[in-house]
Amino acid sequence: SERTFIAVKPDGVQRGLVGKIVSRFEERGYKLVAIKAVVPSRALAEEHYADLRARPFFRGLVEYMTNGKAPVVAMVWEGKDVVRQGRAMIGATNPLESSPGSIRGQYCVSVGRNIIHGSDSFESATKEIQLWFGKPGEVI
Ligand code: ATP
Ligand code: MG
Repeated sequence: SERTFIAVKPDGVQRGLVGKIVSRFEERGYKLVAIKAVVPSRALAEEHYADLRARPFFRGLVEYMTNGKAPVVAMVWEGKDVVRQGRAMIGATNPLESSPGSIRGQYCVSVGRNIIHGSDSFESATKEIQLWFGKPGEVI
């Protein structure tokens, strides 16, 4: 058993998709460990997507995550293979390439408004859970 970091992005929150997304993880059999609505600071969003700093869409991505039109709903989910399975449930980065049964494949069409984030590895999950939920020295 392991944990992953999942976040409903502001467009997913604004569109009222939090309940549907939570239900999909619950119905799969995963356990909700932590959840909060938060408008991330620019520093938090930049650190969260630090690997993408050099990409042309980085500024727009940080603006999208932080503009406050709606919060991000940040979550930690736990269960067997949840990092990899969570990514499979979410679908491909570009929703036009996501399988129709995936979350992105069912609910969105734009790579710049793809409604949900999931950690891409165990190492990313550990980092992201600490970044979004951890105070220094605190373990959830
Ligand atoms: P996430 O990290 O949000 O779960 P991902 O792991 O599927 O998404 P990444 O390569 O990490 O994909 O990209 C992070 C996010 O950056 C994407 O989810 C999307 O919101 C945005 N993004 C990626 N590629 C593009 C692009 N070509 N144009 C605009 N936005 C993009
Ligand atoms: Mg990613």
